[in-house]
Amino acid sequence: MRGECICGEIVFEVVADLPKLYQCHCSICRKQGGSSSNTGLIVAEANFRWLTGQENVSSYVKATGFRSDFCSKCGSVVPNPVRDRPYVWVPAVALDDTQPLEIVAHICVASKASWDKQIPPKLAQYESMPMLSELIDLMYSNANT
Ligand SMILES: [Zn+2]
Ligand SMILES: [Zn+2]
Repeated sequence: MRGECICGEIVFEVVADLPKLYQCHCSICRKQGGSSSNTGLIVAEANFRWLTGQENVSSYVKATGFRSDFCSKCGSVVPNPVRDRPYVWVPAVALDDTQPLEIVAHICVASKASWDKQIPPKLAQYESMPMLSELIDLMYSNANT
């Protein structure tokens, strides 16, 4: 599946079946996502490639290690490499919506916004940040149907 930023300068592609998505409700991801959470997925580095515009990717890294990559022209959040691991975090909002995807987990729900009342109780919820391996297992545990 392909994805792009708002201005279309940056285009990327994930060449494997997509896993399920997770939403992080922490205060930083809310600011990054512009809403009650950001929604993302994690794909193997080998299955990700930039098609155009990689030179327009700007990067902000917080002292804590949180990293946000964005288009230097339009400000859209774009994929960024997962620290020290052979994975890439992909913002679901950047993907062309050509295949139905599904959210499998909500994380950092203990720090969600007071006005965030929509988390479906049936899905996996983590008070804080789970182990990356646990999150990845969950995302890939069964394919999108
Ligand atoms: Zn752009
Ligand atoms: Zn977060």
